[in-house]
Amino acid sequence: MKGRKKKRKPRNRDWHRKHEDSFTHDLARHRKADRTDLGPKLPPLPPAEGIEPNAIVVAHSGQWVFVRMSEEEHLCLIDERLTAGRATLLAPGDEVYVEFQDGEEPLVRTLAPRRSKLSRLAHAHSRLEEQVIAANVDVLAVVTSALRPRFKPGIVDRYLLAAEAGGVGVLLVVNKMDLVDAEPKAVAPYRDLGLAVVNTSATAGRGIDTLHEALAGKVGVFAGQSGVGKSSLLNALAPHLDIATKEVSASTDKGRHTTSASRLHVLEGGTRLIDTPGIRQLGVWGISPEELAFYFPELSEAAGDCRFRNCTHIHEPDCAVLAAIERGDLPKARYESYLRIRSSLET
Ligand code: GDP
Ligand code: ZN
Repeated sequence: MKGRKKKRKPRNRDWHRKHEDSFTHDLARHRKADRTDLGPKLPPLPPAEGIEPNAIVVAHSGQWVFVRMSEEEHLCLIDERLTAGRATLLAPGDEVYVEFQDGEEPLVRTLAPRRSKLSRLAHAHSRLEEQVIAANVDVLAVVTSALRPRFKPGIVDRYLLAAEAGGVGVLLVVNKMDLVDAEPKAVAPYRDLGLAVVNTSATAGRGIDTLHEALAGKVGVFAGQSGVGKSSLLNALAPHLDIATKEVSASTDKGRHTTSASRLHVLEGGTRLIDTPGIRQLGVWGISPEELAFYFPELSEAAGDCRFRNCTHIHEPDCAVLAAIERGDLPKARYESYLRIRSSLET
């Protein structure tokens, strides 16, 4: 089992790397050939209401998007009037309406309203804007590891904020449990918050069934620090995942999937998993410094007893949060996370 996994992963990566250049090349070719015909000649966009989506976004790169429609994948262009100059319009999980036209690339014409989303702050066109990492997500699996790399609360907290802000449920996965005797103490504050925690070992096959059950029939996102075991867990959950990816490459001769962007995988039984390989640090989007404490339930509970209603819990006199930290009644790591994220929001 172990040997098999070791072989599989590099093969997967090599495959991606090999086709990355051909993707770029194909894009350049298509841009030259087709793009000049797009835009002004087309009739105005029909209103999005009343048009049922017929495809789901699998991966997205600039003006190009891979969609899945009745078990097949298609490379499409996005209608320019839909993007309106924005670089990051669509995300894996988005439901869209794709129009097929004779002799032309299929065109993404409408985007259905999102039930939920996972966003981060990203640099685009030399300014900061929202980047939706995944759309219509039911559950975000924040993958951490018990050891190598050690469990880092700061990273977990940023993902919890993003999930809360975007209306996404959370599952905390503590992987590599085969390397330790007991769950790291740093996980306790998250259990106390009532968060669902699953202990796993991708290499020893531990906790995989529980993880499978928690994600069954849902749209799940795997996110977390590099090296914690996201790809290993994906492979353990869906041993045929890489094979499915290759079938996709054979059926789309016009372009290949990019590696840096997130990608949606469809598992047997309808479960959909989106992996986010390119995202290491999550810039918090859509939360103001003043709102931040409300996203830390244990802090905002204690904050009811602060002397000032607009207390920042950093330096004020008679701050109940600071007092609780001093007494050891609140987890220090969570408070430190609050301070770090707050200062990042203020700059
Ligand atoms: P990713 O960067 O999060 O996708 O992590 P990978 O899946 O690439 O795993 C990083 C390394 O950790 C690889 O060498 C894996 O073999 C190893 N690894 C993954 N899961 C486990 C586990 O449960 N236990 C142990 N001991 N190693 C693991
Ligand atoms: Zn306070």
